[in-house]
Amino acid sequence: MIEYLNIVILTGRPDLKITLYGTRGSIPVSRPDVQQHGGNTTCLRVESAALPEGMALVVDAGSGYVPLCGDLLKEGIFNISLLFSHWHHDHTQGLCLAPHTFIPSARLNVWGPCEDDLGPEGVFRHLMRAPFFPVDFGFVQERFDCHNIKSCTDQVLICHPDVGLTSISQEMLEEMEQADVWTLGERDLPLDECLVIKMWRTNHPQMTISYRFEERSSGKVFVFLTDHENTDGYPTELLSHVSGADLLVQDCQYSRERYDTQTKGFGHGTPDYCAGLMVKGGCRKLGITHHDPGAHDEQVQDRVKETLTALRQLDTEASEEAVFACADLMCLAL
Ligand SMILES: [Zn+2]
Ligand SMILES: [Zn+2]
Repeated sequence: MIEYLNIVILTGRPDLKITLYGTRGSIPVSRPDVQQHGGNTTCLRVESAALPEGMALVVDAGSGYVPLCGDLLKEGIFNISLLFSHWHHDHTQGLCLAPHTFIPSARLNVWGPCEDDLGPEGVFRHLMRAPFFPVDFGFVQERFDCHNIKSCTDQVLICHPDVGLTSISQEMLEEMEQADVWTLGERDLPLDECLVIKMWRTNHPQMTISYRFEERSSGKVFVFLTDHENTDGYPTELLSHVSGADLLVQDCQYSRERYDTQTKGFGHGTPDYCAGLMVKGGCRKLGITHHDPGAHDEQVQDRVKETLTALRQLDTEASEEAVFACADLMCLAL
């Protein structure tokens, strides 16, 4: 049995479940004043009835990926489908030292952005080689099945319990939505047994992907939007990407004041911007994440207060529970 720090049940009937293993931005931290929110960098697990038994769906492999893999081993899970938002160190640094990378029977089905011909496989070859790491990627690569994401608009990921996770075209999804089935060879798989994962390219240095998880059986929607900066405002494509989400987890690394004076162009968000997107996108709940490594727990809570103040200026009825700060080992049941 895994003991979570925090369990937040958002609805009466949990369908989609998200467990956060790393919510810190930029670098892992360890100090007495960050115990409440934790110090590991980005990693989370998505659980749904649409996943095959024995498969874990994970987003990013920041330092939180190491404890996540430890928990998966306790459950006897060796099969991981791993989606990467992008390749900055804080989203990959757990990969080299996670047990599944070295267990011969483990299978890692990896998806991530491919820009300038550099996708997951090429990135791992850079990460795992001397003098940066003692084990060469060639030694472990047979466990990895790497897939490039070149376009967030043309490609969609889809998962069915009998099939696992794969990629289809946006056009094909539209045809499937007309017919309500996914025809695969001789089989017709009901679309409402699937988890559909749509993508949007964020505003961040290097290609970065936000993932929108739609569990078709329950209608629940979770959007993970990290490493995204305010500067483009609220483009229509972004609003439709987050539209109606039951839970939006969004990068809110800096206060508006710090952003305006020191961190513009760093690729991260602010409380007022997060509140604006939540309201314009009609999202039910907002979890702020990618906490500043320099921020102690009280300062992370200050970001929540700033977000709530901005939210109430846009929606006077907004409740205090609408916004919270993500924390390592927090489990969110939608
Ligand atoms: Zn980051
Ligand atoms: Zn980044």
